[in-house]
Amino acid sequence: MQGSTQGPAPRVTEHGGGVWALRVPIPDNPLGHTLVHVLDTDRGPVLVDTGWDDPDSWTELTAGLDALGLSVRDVHGVVITHHHPDHHGLSGRVREESGAWIAMHAADTAVVRRTREAEPGTWLDYLARKLAAVGAPEDHLAPLRAARAPGRTRTLPGLRAALPDREIVPGELLDLAGRRLRAIWTPGHTPGHVCLHLEEEHPARRPGHGRLFSGDHLLPGITPHIGLYEDPDDATETDPLGDYLDSLERIGRLGVAEVLPAHQHSFTDAAGRVRELLDHHEERLTGLLGLLATPLTPWQLAVRMEWNRPWDQIPYGSRNIAVSEAEAHVRRLVKLGRAEAVPGTEPVAYVAV
Ligand SMILES: [Zn+2]
Ligand SMILES: [Zn+2]
Repeated sequence: MQGSTQGPAPRVTEHGGGVWALRVPIPDNPLGHTLVHVLDTDRGPVLVDTGWDDPDSWTELTAGLDALGLSVRDVHGVVITHHHPDHHGLSGRVREESGAWIAMHAADTAVVRRTREAEPGTWLDYLARKLAAVGAPEDHLAPLRAARAPGRTRTLPGLRAALPDREIVPGELLDLAGRRLRAIWTPGHTPGHVCLHLEEEHPARRPGHGRLFSGDHLLPGITPHIGLYEDPDDATETDPLGDYLDSLERIGRLGVAEVLPAHQHSFTDAAGRVRELLDHHEERLTGLLGLLATPLTPWQLAVRMEWNRPWDQIPYGSRNIAVSEAEAHVRRLVKLGRAEAVPGTEPVAYVAV
């Protein structure tokens, strides 16, 4: 939108009405950058998300604030859409420099706390157990077991993520001087993802109800990853895809004038984009039902699903993400009564009913 086809994108985009977007790069990632939004309040600037914890990202974040005549020391608060490292990574550093508070939904704060407190290796054991249960072959599990060997545990992003100081309560206005920003709980991409509805007239008087900081929930050209919520201590049968589809409908009904997502670019037809995503998932579920005419484990299903490249070219880590997405779709089909587990299978296979 903002000149994305002509020349390099600007470091700062002014959206009017005391809102700016800063492009904060994500190292080695095809998404390219996080859009960190700056919201002017009567007590100083508030950030919506902060960006990946990397020296270059930090430099860009502070340079973007400089370009607005601000310093990172002025930041009054940080509102986080969800715990992923491209959104929450730099929050701790911003708080150190400015004394700002950090706000997050309780369900994502729980993920941050759990990740920080996990014993080294707990996560790898959990992943290996989970992948074995969905039918991953031995050659896929071997590297996880090797990584578990003493002294080999890699540092993963998020292990030292900042614990928030404030809770974002769904449906409530955030405590921001001179602004009306309401939290809308949109679980699916993560259990505690929130969108933030700026309930103020659009600065260019576009028709509709205010603007929406949509995080990763609603993006103009990407379908966000929906996998199972990962929690080694909790065996609750969640339905993230069902949560996501419900959250999409809730956002579609807001009738916002403009969406300010955390990646790509701003856009106006929120309801149209919601419909596209609902249709996309409906088609995908129908396609999976066809595959499940014969019983398949989630791993076998993932291998047969359509991805952006052939399965044998999908890198190791992305296969884990793909299988988690296959599981989330199976979970939804089971909840809808359109598929069921085949009794006595180990690893468990599912079949259309
Ligand atoms: Zn995310
Ligand atoms: Zn993201």
